[in-house]
Amino acid sequence: LAMAIRELKVCLLGDTGVGKSSIVCRFVQDHFDHNISPTIGASFLTKTVPCGNELHKFLIWDTAGQERFHSLAPMYYRGSAAAVIVYDITKLDSFQTLKKWVKELKEHGPEDIVVAIAGNKNDLGDIREVPMKEAKEFAESIAAIFIETSARNAVNVEELFQRISKQIPPLENPDVE
Ligand code: GDP
Repeated sequence: LAMAIRELKVCLLGDTGVGKSSIVCRFVQDHFDHNISPTIGASFLTKTVPCGNELHKFLIWDTAGQERFHSLAPMYYRGSAAAVIVYDITKLDSFQTLKKWVKELKEHGPEDIVVAIAGNKNDLGDIREVPMKEAKEFAESIAAIFIETSARNAVNVEELFQRISKQIPPLENPDVE
């Protein structure tokens, strides 16, 4: 029985430097580059993972540095199945701007978009500025997935995308028992 391949667009949001490109690089290539080029996000990278009876082919869009303009073109969000909003656990500012990204999504994103909040750089816990509890409560208040990640140490990056996969309703297929 051939598994259906579903293409799922995922867009990454969050301030410059929080580790968006590093998370994509870790997920897609299982690699961490200390001098990652911001141009990596010129278009999108893909990775396919199994989910139940389906294959989810993630088309992951990085902002390519456009987030410095503080608002992204609505086209960036169009057709997205999920959005990952990333902040840096060592930068309170990056957490405070989460709300701005959530507002952007509400205004420009699809209504049924799955939202995940990722607190990245959790390998730097000794210089943490954002308490996990506070971030988790905020995520719960907007019904978003919450997870802390480390792109550097490969912590919870796969898990982040698995949790997104699980929230995507399966396609109905009456021919399959
Ligand atoms: P972006 O601007 O959001 O795409 O962020 P980048 O992926 O370019 O990462 C910004 C900086 O943070 C780079 O110097 C990365 O090496 C570093 N970085 C990214 N993820 C992590 C992480 O999980 N832990 C640590 N310690 N550094 C990270």
